[in-house]
Amino acid sequence: MARCLKVAVLAPMRQVFDYHAPAGPDADELIGCRVRVPFGKGSRLGVIVEVGEASLSAERIKNVTELIDQTPLLPGSLLALALWAADYYCHPPGEVLAAVFPLELRRGEAPRESLEDAWVATAAGQQALSNGTRLGVRQAHVLGLAAGEALRASGLSTLPFDARRVLRELTERQWLCAVRVPPVAAIGTESLEAFLDLNDAQALACAAVLEAADRYRTYLLEGITGSGKTEVYLHLARAMQAGGRQTLVLIPEIGLSEQLVRRFQRRFGSQVALLHSDLSDRERALVWERCRVGEVAILIGTRSALWTPLSNLGLVIVDEEHDASFKQQEGFRYSARDIAVMRARQDGIPVVLGSATPSLESESNVRRGKYTRLRLPERTAGAIPPVLRGLDVRSLPLTGGLSDALCKAMDQVLTEGQQVLLFLNRRGYAPLVMCHACGWIARCERCDARLVLHRESGRLSCHHCGAGRNLARQPVTCCPQPMPMTLGVGTEQVEEALNQRFPGRRILRIDRDSMRRKGQFEAACAAVLAGEVDILLGTQMLAKGHDFPEVTLVGIVDADSRLFATDFRAAERFAQLVIQVAGRAGRGSKPGLVLIQTHHPDHPVLRTVLESDYPDFVALGLAEREAAGLPPFTAMAVIRAEAGQQALPTEFLSGIRRATKSLVAAEVRLAGPVPATMERRAGKFRAVLMVSAERRGALADALLKILKAIEESPLRHRVRWHIDVDPEEAG
Ligand code: ADP
Ligand code: ZN
Repeated sequence: MARCLKVAVLAPMRQVFDYHAPAGPDADELIGCRVRVPFGKGSRLGVIVEVGEASLSAERIKNVTELIDQTPLLPGSLLALALWAADYYCHPPGEVLAAVFPLELRRGEAPRESLEDAWVATAAGQQALSNGTRLGVRQAHVLGLAAGEALRASGLSTLPFDARRVLRELTERQWLCAVRVPPVAAIGTESLEAFLDLNDAQALACAAVLEAADRYRTYLLEGITGSGKTEVYLHLARAMQAGGRQTLVLIPEIGLSEQLVRRFQRRFGSQVALLHSDLSDRERALVWERCRVGEVAILIGTRSALWTPLSNLGLVIVDEEHDASFKQQEGFRYSARDIAVMRARQDGIPVVLGSATPSLESESNVRRGKYTRLRLPERTAGAIPPVLRGLDVRSLPLTGGLSDALCKAMDQVLTEGQQVLLFLNRRGYAPLVMCHACGWIARCERCDARLVLHRESGRLSCHHCGAGRNLARQPVTCCPQPMPMTLGVGTEQVEEALNQRFPGRRILRIDRDSMRRKGQFEAACAAVLAGEVDILLGTQMLAKGHDFPEVTLVGIVDADSRLFATDFRAAERFAQLVIQVAGRAGRGSKPGLVLIQTHHPDHPVLRTVLESDYPDFVALGLAEREAAGLPPFTAMAVIRAEAGQQALPTEFLSGIRRATKSLVAAEVRLAGPVPATMERRAGKFRAVLMVSAERRGALADALLKILKAIEESPLRHRVRWHIDVDPEEAG
């Protein structure tokens, strides 16, 4: 049989397709190039992934319509990584590759030449500056900058405000003119911030990584917040840069990693590039290309930055490696942390996973000798670690969720001029609204969920599908004389209670409702740091990233909802959260106190977290997982299905189970199908089938059989289904 090109079409297709190679270039050199190919009635974009034996007779194979790239855009190792990931996560290779390319390249456009957008002041602009024309503060600032050297797009992030609107205004008035300039290769070191001298533990950690910098090895850099992990990253990146090698830094969320990003920018200037979801498609494509051709020394980005070609990658860093947001939860469900480790392995380079509270997966890898632990034992400034204490609130009066004991502790801290941080992971006013007259409860019509009262916006809304209603237009009309009342508390209600209990104190609420606009969260954090806030109240957003040295008391308003969450990772998430929140508090000479309100002071997880260290919790958590046969002691995947009809998903999954049960290895456990934790969501009924095995290979083999059974299932077009390998939740 003839040799032909195997093309992964950028579409949800599990197989690759055969095409004739164009005459001329050596086919093997084309692996990784984009092509346009005839497909069905039209044409599609695809990537050549292999050259091999044709699986059809030569006359049935079509020619490629267009060879878009003359040389591959993806280095062979990145292509191999994408195909490996497609296999590992049972996802169509074309869709995985679609996630690798920025949108413009996915559409078949040529790579953006690596010119950078910039702005220069026009003559009229210069005049406006000098002749006293009235300008806004921001306008004057931006115009002033552009009147000197060209103001580069890459420099905008160092401005203290979002400059895009100002740039538009000034361009409209023809005071600024857009130009494209070559990116700066390096900037003078004199303007850059100096590196700190490492303490002993930091120096040891750096040396360990750098000693074996030409080999693959995964390091777990463990140290509490403030122990100096970021400084280690900075030193490692500098060593890489000095050797002409690139560093890839993965972070959970851009908004929450501001401080880390700024520190890299202050040290490395324009050698740093950022990739995250707030960028436009154009900006992404530009950064991608600059990285590909090697103009960037350090790339910092969220999940998808993992897929950026870096011609001379020398080190991968994953900060806050335990963070759940490294796992993509829709479409191509992959763990950026895990693939980052694989990437380092393929490239033969070190990878550093940093965390104050490592995931149980990474902990178990250390125990099995697969990862090397590096520990930063103390806070750099020699500060005292926070004290954690449970606050038994059983039968105590609670106002807006707050006990008197907590409020008294707050009084004391506030009197001393320090700040308080309260944590409650529930937005809105109250999570349950019912009618005292008839017992009616406000429920979502499309989900098995209750509607949450949002008083500020006057809405009852569903936190799962977004549906809801406006109370002004559709008041509660469940019975002739409705008497609506609420149960439970959300952040809005705590804020109300705080305003009553602490009049005159400056209270700031931080959640997705109060921080809708871009830049608002950063401004809020700046206000806290500037001492303009006394009491800070917020959700998950507060638990990560930002350090607040003047906060000396942290109150966790409701630990119970977390302790009793059903999922197998609930305990791990709880312990991480408490320790992360605690890590935000107290610095320098002021120790922090963390008070955790609970109705279950004897809960084993809570007690372990309170009475001992994270390592003790890890031991407990791992023992429980092992006894229950859960990850990381087993490899797990879940097959989820959903449909408008309640019986269908279960029927579909039962069929899959029946068809595969006798084919899979004896060690493979199939559990379910069972209804999902929330069976109905956004109008669809959902069910899950769990698959687990002690050996990864047995799971992979079972998944192949399951995929085959799905392809043969008569119900497959009547349900939506997906496979989630290494799921965050089993439900
Ligand atoms: P982490 O990333 O673990 O939270 P950081 O690297 O941010 O820790 O360090 C915490 C604080 O200590 C920062 O303010 C940092 O500037 C300072 N710091 C870190 N390393 C050193 C060092 N070797 N000498 C002096 N200060 C340091
Ligand atoms: Zn809903």
